[in-house]
Amino acid sequence: MSSESWTQRYSAALMNTFGPPKLILERGEGCRVWDVDGRSYVDFLGGIAVNTLGHGHPALVDAVTTQLGTLGHISNFFASTPQIELAERLLALAAPDTDGRVFLCNSGAEANEAALKMTRRTGRTHVVAMEDAFHGRTMGSLALTSKQAYRTPFEPLPGDVTWVPYGDVDALAAAVTDQTAAVVIEPLQGEAGVNVAAGDFLAAARAITTDHGALLWLDEIQSGMGRTGRWLASHAAGVTPDIVTLAKGLAGGIPIGACIGFGDAGRLFEPGNHGTTFGGNPVAAAAALAVIDTIEKDGLLEHAVAVGERLRSGLVADARVTEIRGSGVLVGLTLAGVDAPAVVAAAQDAGWIINATGPDRVRFAPPLVVGLDDVDAFLAAWPSILDAAQGSAA
Ligand SMILES: *Cc1c(COP(=O)(O)O)cnc(C)c1O
Repeated sequence: MSSESWTQRYSAALMNTFGPPKLILERGEGCRVWDVDGRSYVDFLGGIAVNTLGHGHPALVDAVTTQLGTLGHISNFFASTPQIELAERLLALAAPDTDGRVFLCNSGAEANEAALKMTRRTGRTHVVAMEDAFHGRTMGSLALTSKQAYRTPFEPLPGDVTWVPYGDVDALAAAVTDQTAAVVIEPLQGEAGVNVAAGDFLAAARAITTDHGALLWLDEIQSGMGRTGRWLASHAAGVTPDIVTLAKGLAGGIPIGACIGFGDAGRLFEPGNHGTTFGGNPVAAAAALAVIDTIEKDGLLEHAVAVGERLRSGLVADARVTEIRGSGVLVGLTLAGVDAPAVVAAAQDAGWIINATGPDRVRFAPPLVVGLDDVDAFLAAWPSILDAAQGSAA
């Protein structure tokens, strides 16, 4: 059955939350995926920064298969060893010298939902968030997301949120008061097209929140787990927050989320405050442990830095790219005179999956295992992809 008929069946059976699918994909291996028509594509989006190890990585397949055959699901009346090991590993890689506690859940929005509920346990309700932020689609995480198009149909949302321009230290200092429960920041704003907060912004946010007794909460759902070449993007700034939320790449494609509280923030929840049936699921925890082990064993942090630099320097060599942003394999660029969605379509025609985050913004989030050969092949095709996009608009 062809892509066309699958697309019709999709539209007849699934809610129209995402618009029509760009492709109907059937299988994947490494950085390559195949659609139902047998065409293959090199995946430079990685499930939106999720497929850390690419597709079908043996370490992930083995961990999930073995764990599922051993113990697949229990409930949170009980605990499993992968869940405990994962929490320990996350604490050790996020902030080895700081006491912390982990809450495991199933997605980014849920990790942020947990964090938002934690902030309420301080007795304060005011949260300062960033303009152009994306924190998820549940009512709580949406309350922190600034995009009006996402918010307006669902208002009223849980309130008491102030937005400040991303990176603006003075605006942040003016917005945070002694009534502020938390400041929430993405170290890189992925959904906005990979905006990067200067290291001194995170350091200033740490100082300002500390001054006012507010929590510093970093949403590393997209930027964390090695994507920028460090376990957490905020490590580059040397800042230890009170809360970190993780999800996307954490288990390489198996649904998972984590909310980490450091110091007192790790003890804000008491029994009865929060929960989730699937959170800490042994299969998801085993998958995350396999991802972490493989990143360490195969030197994927260093690799992400090297391929990311090669990708960025190659992309910006074309004069139609006016700005290049990001670190490691989270890369965003701005185009002049070329429509970003047309570039994505032209790339797909040429066998590459990339993503537009706005009319002139393109994002790349390939698996950490992406090869230099794939990067070089993409860069060789890049000018002709831009030509094709310009031609299609003419
Ligand atoms: C994707 C994302 C979320 C939401 O995660 P879901 O798993 O889609 O709920 C939250 N914050 C950031 C920074 C994200 O990139």
